[in-house]
Amino acid sequence: MGTDTACVLEPGVLPAAVGLDDDGVADEMLLAVRESRRWAARQAELIAEADRRGLARRQGFGSTCEWLAVLSGEPVPACRSKVAVAEALERMPETRAAFAAGEVSEGKVRLLAEAQALAPEQFARDEASLVAAVAGASPQQVPQVVASWKRQADPQGTEVQAERLYKQRALHLSKGWLDMLRLSGQLDPESGLIVQDAIRSLSEGAALNASDTRTPAQCRADALVEICRRHLQGGNGSVRPPRVLVTIPWNTLQEGQGLVDTETGPVTAETARRITCDATISRVLLDADSVPVEMGRATRVIPPALRKALDLRDGGCTHPGCDVPARWSDAHHIQHWAQGGKTDLSNLRLLCRKHHRDAHHQQSYPLRQ
Ligand SMILES: [Zn+2]
Ligand SMILES: [Zn+2]
Repeated sequence: MGTDTACVLEPGVLPAAVGLDDDGVADEMLLAVRESRRWAARQAELIAEADRRGLARRQGFGSTCEWLAVLSGEPVPACRSKVAVAEALERMPETRAAFAAGEVSEGKVRLLAEAQALAPEQFARDEASLVAAVAGASPQQVPQVVASWKRQADPQGTEVQAERLYKQRALHLSKGWLDMLRLSGQLDPESGLIVQDAIRSLSEGAALNASDTRTPAQCRADALVEICRRHLQGGNGSVRPPRVLVTIPWNTLQEGQGLVDTETGPVTAETARRITCDATISRVLLDADSVPVEMGRATRVIPPALRKALDLRDGGCTHPGCDVPARWSDAHHIQHWAQGGKTDLSNLRLLCRKHHRDAHHQQSYPLRQ
């Protein structure tokens, strides 16, 4: 047995809090924090071992997560996260050691695991210094510490990273007691922009209305419900693409290289090209100090009449075997307009969101004729 199990809380072993002086309360608190981290690290070690042995299935559970939920009594989403972190820690020896020593919190370990998943090779190389930096940073600073490491460790890996982030998208829905529906999950920067913009478009008005007594969180919840309700009622006609404000340097759009900053994080130039494939574009001229000097009117890249003709011709997504209807599809420029591609029927194809993504991020791409 390792020394991790040395501290077992038994009644009477620890001094009662009521009898401690002020320094004593603080000291005992620090000790408790450290010990709870060490126990969390111990849990991670045991979870990883159970997972490796396939213990859950042998004991009649569907998965290690299910096994943990029953054993710990904790909710499934929390267990899912613990299993993922435990599994990642297997590839993170420095992090594991710092966690077991009580030097980093479970939250910080989770963030480090995300960084590891994003750039495994660079993480293995920099793990010791990164763990030290994260251990010394405040919880507010930690995301920036990790992000700046990521930028300098792997400046070329943005396309790969975008793909990894996209793969990590997830949404979990679970019923709480009283039948409240709990939502949790995460979205890649581009998807995040769309969801954020849609929710804001329905919730920001409330902030300006003094007689509206709802909290901002309640307004966002109402906005999400409203969006879903409208969807279920069935939108008619083609979907209006979301109004997302992204400033894209012209060179980036033409060459398809580099990064574009957005409100929810950087997206790759290729993603920017896809967003602008079928969008409302406003031209803004900036002077040398990046101050806008002229703003053009917002114009649709694809005029409504042309879009209607395209909907009629293609009927829906033109990827072979895909049956997503026209109103949920994007109009894709086979050659992007920023590279001189024409906005006419011969250079346009309807593609659903997924296949539009593939078309921009994969070299050769099949189209239904
Ligand atoms: Zn496109
Ligand atoms: Zn499709």
